[in-house]
Amino acid sequence: MTTPKPGTCPVLTTADGAPIARQQALTAGPRGPLLMQDVQLLEQMQSFNRERIPERVVHAKGSGAYGTFTVTNDVTKYTKAAFLGRVGKTTDVFLRFSTVAGERGAADAERDVRGFALKFYTEEGNWDMVGNNTPVFFVRDPYKFQMFIHTQKRDPATNLRDMDMQWDFWSLCPESLHQVTILFSDRGIPANYRSMNGYGSHTYSLINDAGERVWCKFHFKTKQGIATLTDEAAAALIGSDRESHQRDLHGAIESGDFPQWRFCIQIMTQKQADAFRWNPFDLTKVWPHAEFPLIEVGTLELNRNPENYHAEVEQSSFSPSALVPGIGPSPDKMLQARLMSYADAHRYRVGANYQHLPVNAPRCPFANYQRDGAMATAASYGSAPNYWPNSREGAPMPDESRLDPAWTLGQTVVDRFDSTVDHDDFTQAGDLYRMFDDAHRDRLATRLAGVLGQARREVQARQLCHFFRADPDYGRRVAEKLDFDLSEFHESGAAVAATR
Ligand code: NDP
Repeated sequence: MTTPKPGTCPVLTTADGAPIARQQALTAGPRGPLLMQDVQLLEQMQSFNRERIPERVVHAKGSGAYGTFTVTNDVTKYTKAAFLGRVGKTTDVFLRFSTVAGERGAADAERDVRGFALKFYTEEGNWDMVGNNTPVFFVRDPYKFQMFIHTQKRDPATNLRDMDMQWDFWSLCPESLHQVTILFSDRGIPANYRSMNGYGSHTYSLINDAGERVWCKFHFKTKQGIATLTDEAAAALIGSDRESHQRDLHGAIESGDFPQWRFCIQIMTQKQADAFRWNPFDLTKVWPHAEFPLIEVGTLELNRNPENYHAEVEQSSFSPSALVPGIGPSPDKMLQARLMSYADAHRYRVGANYQHLPVNAPRCPFANYQRDGAMATAASYGSAPNYWPNSREGAPMPDESRLDPAWTLGQTVVDRFDSTVDHDDFTQAGDLYRMFDDAHRDRLATRLAGVLGQARREVQARQLCHFFRADPDYGRRVAEKLDFDLSEFHESGAAVAATR
């Protein structure tokens, strides 16, 4: 007897499948009290109490959809990834968009970075590209990640979002300036999830059939064109619809208007990496397109809505550690930390066997010696051995032919290196600022002054120094809007006021 799909029985039943005759409380007399033996009611109440799982600490509010990835260009000289093996090849995907700081009930149209987490169900395992709609991030050292997120959440005493807390941190971490400039630029509030780019942000490695390794960045360029909201439009939208991006994505797919992205890569050889003027593994930096042009790989299309939000979107779990042959990590410290922390978060919030859920499970054959734990559903393991090495016939064995080339670390010194020294935190933020026209620069400065003005004056002064260092005009505009006396600042951007 096979297990039928839930919801397919015309008669209401208990979770154990027994028919329910009447949905009314079992009581001693019409006025009660209740009887303990009303197991239907007990089950309903107890199930209800367990409906929520812990929300994600970050990226709690999200929307997801299934789709298809199609290869349009041959990149096999860079990677042996099987799903990229042939032009025209298609792979099923699931994509979860999200905001970062807000809780599960937060409004979609807030000024915030957006998550862009993609699961490719490839024939050699799932590849998770767990990115954002920005090519860089606020910090480059994993020690600062949890601290940064605390500043984006709520003050421990007031339970309010706190601008002083945010700017205190940002002004003490000038490596955040590039991402801060993107966040407060006109692209800081995407109009919807379809009309924004996605980026892998980190540097990854690609390995080809010959065992040659290159460094790589992933870009997903929206084919819908970038669409953004002004602060005023976003405030009005949030006032009438807190689920605007979910509504837009679900509605577009439902009506057959399938959003698409152009998947591109940037490639850097080790020789180029050695000569690059920035650390190519620094998450606060991009690789300029003029030096590292975008190479098209394929087209991503979203074309199917999930049937059940909780099962498929809330429980969808992405981890940068989900890598496939031909795609690997880089020395990026933030990436290295995420390789552990994401899967760990899912084991906590979804469960030890989160990879058994249909949305997370590989769609290729898989076999390993991991067993048991709460809610284990990989029933196909049956009586197969649960230890290795073993001499059992048919037991899964490692495949030496899949070995990646060695990675030479040479005379590497192990130390807690100071990630704040010897870094240029200002040039790329300035490059971005200088791309903006005059009106955009003014809107950026107005927004920044609006939020920075809510921080202490000493924090404002410290942060202004960073704007000046990125571009004197950038510093001047924000300073004027905050009513700072510009004679307090040297022309170079170094401030008389304390820095850090
Ligand atoms: P390019 O002129 O070659 O590219 C500029 C890039 O900036 C384009 O990808 C564009 O995206 C993007 N962009 C435009 N406005 C914004 C904004 N408000 N927020 C975020 N991105 C924006 O320049 P470079 O490659 O030399 O880079 C210059 C600056 O552009 C960088 O310092 C960085 O801030 C930004 N940038 C660079 C990227 C890269 O990978 N090189 C990626 C994204 C941003 P689109 O093509 O969709 O319009």
